[in-house]
Parts: sequence; C-alpha cells; structure tokens
Amino acid sequence: MKYTLEDKMTSLRAVSIAVLLYIFGYSLKISVLLNGILETRIPNTVVRFVTSGVMGAALSTALLIVSVIEIKKYTSYIIAIMDAIMLLLVFNVFNSNGKSELFTLVFISLFTAFIGFNLISVFVVKYQLIKSGKEQSISQLEQIESKQVLELSKIEQEIAEKKQTTCEHCLQEYGTRQALNAHKGRCIKNPKNL
Ligand SMILES: [Zn+2]
Repeated sequence: MKYTLEDKMTSLRAVSIAVLLYIFGYSLKISVLLNGILETRIPNTVVRFVTSGVMGAALSTALLIVSVIEIKKYTSYIIAIMDAIMLLLVFNVFNSNGKSELFTLVFISLFTAFIGFNLISVFVVKYQLIKSGKEQSISQLEQIESKQVLELSKIEQEIAEKKQTTCEHCLQEYGTRQALNAHKGRCIKNPKNL
C-alpha cells in the first residue's frame, strides 16, 4: 500500500508529533511561570530551574494523559481555559503596554489554548478510530478462523464416516456397513479368508 503525502500529513503519527510538540510547549510555559513564582522562594538558580522544569514536565504529561483518557467532556474545557489563563500570566498581561499589546497577548493566549484543545480532541478521535479498526479486523480474522475450524471438523467427520464403510484389508469402499461386512467375509486380502 502506497501512502500519499496527504495520508502522512493526517496520519495518527503526524497528529501524535503535533500533540507532543504542544505538550513540550505547555511544559515550557508552566516551567517559565513557576520559575518566576519561585524566584524569591528558591534563590539558587540551578535548583529553581530544575524544580520548575521537572514540575512543568510532570504537569504537562499529566495534562496529556488526562485529556486523552478523560471520560467527562468538561475536563478538556477546563484544561483549555486554564491553558489560556496560564499563557496570559506568562505574558504578564496585566502589565502590558497599551491596548494594542494587551489585545495581541489575549488573542495569542486564547488562540493557542483553542488550537491545543482541538489538537488533543483530534488525537483522541483519530486514536479511537484506528483502535476500533484494528479490533474489527481482529474479529474478522477470528471469524475466518472459526469457519476454517468448522470445515476441518466436517472433513474429519467425512473421513471417519468413510472409514466405517471401507474395507481395512483391500481399501475398497462400500455404500453401507452391511455391504462392507458381507464383503469382509469373502475379501481375498482378509487374513481370515486365506
Ligand atoms: Zn476387502
């Protein structure tokens, strides 16, 4: 099967890569925010960077898992809203210079959160589609297998039936068991008749 560029662009792998990039960005976002908050509490730069980096990575991984496995739809909405708020905080929106910058920052924050939310939704739908497709082909294979097992048992039954009406000495086949028994009495290959 030959895959076109369009297939590759819309494949689960492409969506997965986009999701990973998004999560990586998310991780950086949380780290930057935490680093700013922790500045006064952890004076050591290295310790502060490591702390915020690890927390950022852990939180964004948790976000991905929750978004993908979430059962309640509103979880993803809450995550998207929090994502937007977090970006607004990272951009320090309350200290922006003028309306134009404020508008740009708010727009970028909402836009990023919206795209991220949709990206994860697409990933979930795509993953479930592929999973259900695989499950379907497995059940088809199982159906074929059970059909073949049935045919095999039919053949075995036929062989067993033929054995019952076949002379074991000369291998001649007869229509009924009575005919076979009558033949056995005079079969020239039957040791008893020698
Ligand atoms: Zn015979």
